[in-house]
Amino acid sequence: MVEYSALALLKNAFTGNRDWKQAWRKPEPKPAYDVVVIGGGGHGLATAYYLAKEHGITNVAVIEKGWLGSGNIGRNTTIVRSNYLLPDSIRFYDFSVRLWENLSHELNYNVMFSQRGVLNLAHSPGQADEYIRRGNAMRHEGGDGVWLSRDEIARKVPGVDLSPNARFPVVGGLLQPRAGTARHDAVAWGYARAADRHGVDIVENCEVTGFLREGDIITGVTTTRGEIRAKKIALAVAGNTSRLLQMAGIDRFPIESHVLQAFVSESIKPLVNCVVTFGGGHLYMSQSDKGGLVFGGDLDGYNSYAQRGNLPLVEEVMSEMTAMFPAVARLRLLRSWGGVMDMSMDGSPIITKGPLPGMYLNSGWCYGGFKATPASGFSFAWTIAKGEPHKTNAPFTLSRFERGNVIDEKGQGPTPKLH
Ligand SMILES: Cc1cc2nc3c(=O)[nH]c(=O)nc-3n(C[C@H](O)[C@H](O)[C@H](O)COP(=O)(O)OP(=O)(O)OC[C@H]3O[C@@H](n4cnc5c(N)ncnc54)[C@H](O)[C@@H]3O)c2cc1C
Repeated sequence: MVEYSALALLKNAFTGNRDWKQAWRKPEPKPAYDVVVIGGGGHGLATAYYLAKEHGITNVAVIEKGWLGSGNIGRNTTIVRSNYLLPDSIRFYDFSVRLWENLSHELNYNVMFSQRGVLNLAHSPGQADEYIRRGNAMRHEGGDGVWLSRDEIARKVPGVDLSPNARFPVVGGLLQPRAGTARHDAVAWGYARAADRHGVDIVENCEVTGFLREGDIITGVTTTRGEIRAKKIALAVAGNTSRLLQMAGIDRFPIESHVLQAFVSESIKPLVNCVVTFGGGHLYMSQSDKGGLVFGGDLDGYNSYAQRGNLPLVEEVMSEMTAMFPAVARLRLLRSWGGVMDMSMDGSPIITKGPLPGMYLNSGWCYGGFKATPASGFSFAWTIAKGEPHKTNAPFTLSRFERGNVIDEKGQGPTPKLH
């Protein structure tokens, strides 16, 4: 495997870039592994990588029904942050940000992690109080919440409508300077290449169609490319969690699947140098290195497994966008797409052993699983290797629903589409 470096770039430039090696192999699946990870998204690939790197478990296959990046890992708006209110969430996501900070070096792959900051605009004194409280909670846990006044926002993001007559006047904003963006599909490719280097088999175009069992114990999977047995089966299939669990005979589970859309505009000169979110509704926006504005809003609001959304939400997101940044009103939209979100009952993830013997589950990422990719992979690998949670994911097991210890950041109650 070629080490990616400035020297390798130079050397390959002289040979017309014809000698680059494939980033990961395309192996045939073996009949048996120690661990089979279902789902070649960010979480599945990161799990396989940390299983190999941290625990020396290399007889691992990642089984992906499409191509790497075809799921949410290649469809999100790339925001990485840890600006949460509840201590369990802050600790987990801050651990993730710390892993992000060294990820390009660790994987020898440029994931383009850019700590340009995430700014949440507040539009009323009540919302300002709520954000300041969140910032204080972050700081209490060693994080980096900073309150910005309207004048400071005017200097940082001049395009925001700060006029006193604005429909949603801005009163200030909470900035997390260490937050930012990363290149989403590079994260999948980087983890895939690094896992492959450790001997992990990444099997694309191979759909899991059922489970093999001995009594109650899950002992393998049936796939479109034959049966594969494994001592441990790990699910990291995001919006398809309920489908896979149904194949294992579990009909009721605290996850609902919903569509979330994302949008990219035509490229323009630099307009925003951080991620900005609009508190008057639900909108988040950043500018890609190519110049396009990348943004998204709320869920479409109905249950679906389709990777596309509908027009009412497009209209809603555009109206929020122009309320926040009036100057973009005449900008053309280039692309939009949808992804299937695994919305949990309390809006927090589930990284756990079970729910059946031999099975391990990673799900419930809602809108926010991209930023969690490193911490999720790390703690899920720990859980699979040791049969118990890592300290960062201990609060995020299934038992919280039995005990009523939910981690409900928004205080919305058991209505998945509201989290
Ligand atoms: C529009 C949009 C915007 C988002 N914005 C953000 C954001 O800004 N920040 C953030 O943190 N998060 C964001 N998210 C959420 C984030 O993308 C997801 O939570 C996260 O990517 C989910 O984990 P994953 O990468 O492993 O999922 P996926 O990439 O979806 O991986 C799951 C994989 O499982 C595979 N699979 C499913 N069924 C089977 C089967 N039967 N057999 C084999 N393979 C199977 C799928 O093909 C898929 O590749 C956004 C999501 C969307 C859709």
